Amino acid sequence: MNILISACLLGVNCRYDGGGKLIDEIDQLKKTYNLIPVCPEVYGGLQTPREPAEIIDGKVMNRKGEDVSENFTRGANETLHLAKLYNCKYAILKERSPSCGFGEVYDGTFSGNLIKGNGFTAELLSKNGIKVIGESEIDSFLKGGLEEL
Ligand code: SF4
Repeated sequence: MNILISACLLGVNCRYDGGGKLIDEIDQLKKTYNLIPVCPEVYGGLQTPREPAEIIDGKVMNRKGEDVSENFTRGANETLHLAKLYNCKYAILKERSPSCGFGEVYDGTFSGNLIKGNGFTAELLSKNGIKVIGESEIDSFLKGGLEEL
């Protein structure tokens, strides 16, 4: 089964700060699933490293005050394209990111405060029937299997 996964969770250095966020469960996941890495912000034409960005009033603004919503929208659409191409029903996405976060994101003040909400890509995938799983849920995902979620 094909599953989308945020590339940074595989240790790819595509985050805004030029780093990755390698998770421990990769080998376990690879044993059972075919992982399709995606990085919506790179697909949206943004550089790495780049200014951090947060969602405010439905737009994505970077720390310099530039509106990068178009890049984030483009990246979300490209990611959905891949999800459909590979028939992915699940996506394991980096929590709290303005692209990949699902359920909670930063509040737009760049002060570390979290609010309820979804990143642009997580929202689009979810609206298209793809179940989004955060990295903190991987253990239960692996233990319980797909039906448990
Ligand atoms: S857009 Fe998603 S995959 Fe790319 S660096 Fe940010 S959290 Fe990771």
